[in-house]
Amino acid sequence: MNLFFDVDKTIIAQDGSLRPWVRETFTQLHQDGHTLYVWSGMGIRWPVLSRNGLRGYVADFFEKPLDDHRARLARLGVTVPPDLCVDDHQEIVEVFGGVVVRPYVDPDPLDVEMHRVYTLISCYRNGH
Ligand SMILES: [Mg+2]
Repeated sequence: MNLFFDVDKTIIAQDGSLRPWVRETFTQLHQDGHTLYVWSGMGIRWPVLSRNGLRGYVADFFEKPLDDHRARLARLGVTVPPDLCVDDHQEIVEVFGGVVVRPYVDPDPLDVEMHRVYTLISCYRNGH
């Protein structure tokens, strides 16, 4: 599946630090045969991925539509249809399906939201 991950408060905290288990989750989803994309309403930001060791798991980085989501995909150059997205905002998940995560605001080494993300995506994959 084409999985689209948000950046701010989804995979990184406000200070730019990586959420726990993101790298492991990206690795596993990639190994499971999914194609991973990252998108952000703040523009295309490859350095966020590079400095966190995620670059190799991500097929492309897009600008995320913030409203009128489906209609704006083409205009923003999102050439791949999202199958599921992972975001701290419910709105976009309601449009494309996926998982709403608890906003990751401050660094928290005990955060395990990514375990839940992996479990839920695996359920979709199995058709549940
Ligand atoms: Mg966000």
